[in-house]
Amino acid sequence: MIDAERLKKNWSLVASHGDQVPLYFYSTLFLTHPETRDLFPMNMAAQRDKLVNALGAVVSNVDTIDAVVPTLQALGRDHRKFGALRGHYPAVGEALVATLEHFSGPHWTPAIAADWTAAYGLVSATMADAADAAAHYTPAWWDAEIVAHERRDLETAVITLDPGNRIDYLPGQSLSLCTSLRPRVWRQYSPANAPRADGTIELHVRAVDGGQVSTALVSLVRPGDHLRVGPAFGTGLTLRPGRGPVTMIAGGTGVAPMKALVEQLAAAPRPTSLYWGARSPAGLYCLDQLRALASAHDWLEFVPCVDEDLFGSESRLGSPVELAVAHGRCSGADVYLCGPPGMVETGRKHLAGSGIRAEAIHFEPTGE
Ligand SMILES: Cc1cc2nc3c(=O)[nH]c(=O)nc-3n(C[C@H](O)[C@H](O)[C@H](O)COP(=O)(O)OP(=O)(O)OC[C@H]3O[C@@H](n4cnc5c(N)ncnc54)[C@H](O)[C@@H]3O)c2cc1C
Repeated sequence: MIDAERLKKNWSLVASHGDQVPLYFYSTLFLTHPETRDLFPMNMAAQRDKLVNALGAVVSNVDTIDAVVPTLQALGRDHRKFGALRGHYPAVGEALVATLEHFSGPHWTPAIAADWTAAYGLVSATMADAADAAAHYTPAWWDAEIVAHERRDLETAVITLDPGNRIDYLPGQSLSLCTSLRPRVWRQYSPANAPRADGTIELHVRAVDGGQVSTALVSLVRPGDHLRVGPAFGTGLTLRPGRGPVTMIAGGTGVAPMKALVEQLAAAPRPTSLYWGARSPAGLYCLDQLRALASAHDWLEFVPCVDEDLFGSESRLGSPVELAVAHGRCSGADVYLCGPPGMVETGRKHLAGSGIRAEAIHFEPTGE
């Protein structure tokens, strides 16, 4: 029996050592199992944060492991794209336990070691089993050709991919992408369309300052180039069943999954409001597309919002979440929230402060 409380306590002690922890982990892993180095990107800076977050999530959920089994299975299937094999999992486990022991100092005991080994065994077996099962029916990644690349402004590109055959995903989910310009570095992007008969996928990418993948996708790739696409991931933003009203609140490229959800809703319409915000009108990079959707569907209300508007466009002034709440569109609705990590955090707080039940607020954890 794993003592989850003891694990959590030990984890918070170890995590208090900050960046030292992933540094030690990867040095140990690459020294003891050099063959694992090729699984990771050349630049390990972003990878370090991910390990600490992932460990924290697993540890804090170990006492309710049943609730995270679907997530772990999805992670296992997803990790096939890194070339992770069942044989690699013990190496990672050994490096992990060595790291925990190192930072626990005198607090490390045989009982804690046994708990960690058992918890890791459970997690890695769930991931590896799901990966093995997936290998029978789906590739680790798909190769997709860029068939269109439109720069909508300096920071934003709308990219159409043709993977050759259909990749299964639900509107609201995201796909991970990798370009050969940034080998082994994968990032999540949300399709802006419901699955199409021809399998093509529209993506909206905003270049983040100093970002490895987003800047390459916005500025460097061209039609004819190929990207690797990993399996679909996430359930936070997928459509909840029901017939009640739906309110979508998006910032920047967070509108992409909302557009996919609108396309899905067209098959079984519900009263829907889409509030989409940007700092200025120039940031509303697909305004015409969304206006056309709203004119085609009488059940869809579309409200573009901006923080500042020197030229008096038709957009509302204010944040999309504040406006949606002020217009009474959130109470009694399923509310979907997507945008930059800061906006989602602020939006959730504002919705909660306005009396919207937590169960009615849907979002995808960004992992940032
Ligand atoms: C589920 C999910 C869906 C996503 N869908 C989309 C999408 O449809 N379109 C899209 O453009 N992006 C989307 N993202 C964000 C995307 O995955 C990348 O995080 C983003 O493109 C930055 O990657 P990068 O490699 O360029 O930056 P990195 O090299 O990873 O980071 C560079 C710097 O930018 C910061 N940073 C990273 N991401 C962001 C961000 N989103 N906003 C502000 N600062 C950031 C980092 O902290 C770091 O300091 C999604 C993320 C998740 C988790």
